[in-house]
Amino acid sequence: MKPTVFRSILGMHCPRCREGRMFPTTTFSFQRPFDMDARCSKCGQSYHPEPGFYYGAMFLSYILSGFFSIGVAAFLHWVVDLSLLASFSILIAILAFLFVWVFRISRSLWLHMNVRYAPMRKNQPS
Ligand SMILES: [Zn+2]
Repeated sequence: MKPTVFRSILGMHCPRCREGRMFPTTTFSFQRPFDMDARCSKCGQSYHPEPGFYYGAMFLSYILSGFFSIGVAAFLHWVVDLSLLASFSILIAILAFLFVWVFRISRSLWLHMNVRYAPMRKNQPS
């Protein structure tokens, strides 16, 4: 069965084969949070195609965090009816907890935007 692009992005798999993993540890283990494999273990796709490649992922991270923050702060302040101080305190705690996940999902999304899906044939030597 062909893995979907959303499943591949959220699972942080290789964008080319959608099988290999991009990061050696799980996100919420918080161990070696910024380590990333150099290549896909399944198809050999480079995860660092050129110097400064993940500069674009920084903008994705900013956009994701910005819209998330607006949504959470607005929800807590206007729907749950918390004070601004309480709303932003909770938001900062959530952002601190999700920091590694946002970092990784931004890199995954950026790599998927720049590398085409090319599944390996079953009898293809790797
Ligand atoms: Zn791969």
